[in-house]
Amino acid sequence: MLIQAERELIIEYGQKLITAGLTTGSGGNLSLYNRAENLVAIKPTGIDYFKLTPEDIVVMTIDGEIVDGERTPSSEINIHLGLLKHRPDINAVVHTHSVYAATIACLNWELPAVHYLVGFSGDKVPLAPYATYGTKELAENIIRTIGSYNACLMANHGVVTVGNNLPTAFAVAEEIELVARLYYQTKCIGEPVILSNEEMAVVVKKFKTYGQK
Ligand SMILES: [Zn+2]
Repeated sequence: MLIQAERELIIEYGQKLITAGLTTGSGGNLSLYNRAENLVAIKPTGIDYFKLTPEDIVVMTIDGEIVDGERTPSSEINIHLGLLKHRPDINAVVHTHSVYAATIACLNWELPAVHYLVGFSGDKVPLAPYATYGTKELAENIIRTIGSYNACLMANHGVVTVGNNLPTAFAVAEEIELVARLYYQTKCIGEPVILSNEEMAVVVKKFKTYGQK
């Protein structure tokens, strides 16, 4: 079987999206790029994470040609392949509608440094302009907005996170959801204090070693 280890990681971390409360049902999607073999493993659309088998995972080239799998790939295939192509430093992409990140995105706000854990993304999480789900325009908006950040809010939609491996991209999704929740909660009862750019530069530098031990 082609890139079996990557297929199994897609299933493992897809199930973790559910157990961590970052998505429900068959929502959200993940991809993992094996650059040596130039093959991308991506979740198929509309199948329960706990019913997925390695055979269900779609295997594609970076240009979108399906080389193995009977299933239809995730509807956000353009985001996955686009980011993997444009960011040579990453190999994994996670997309969710996690509730607090989506809440901030529905306000069309960026997520500022209300807590140092925003450093999983950078000094903030930028916001990509709205476009219809599944379109190339949406993928282009995200690629243009994310720059070198590791997370990007998607206006009126959700969030996308990236990492050099799937555990890291998942950790970014989990931590950014926490920061989004803290931002929401602090906004509810007061005015959050935002960390300075200078402090976030220190944090981001410390975070550079995350996931590489
Ligand atoms: Zn979505």
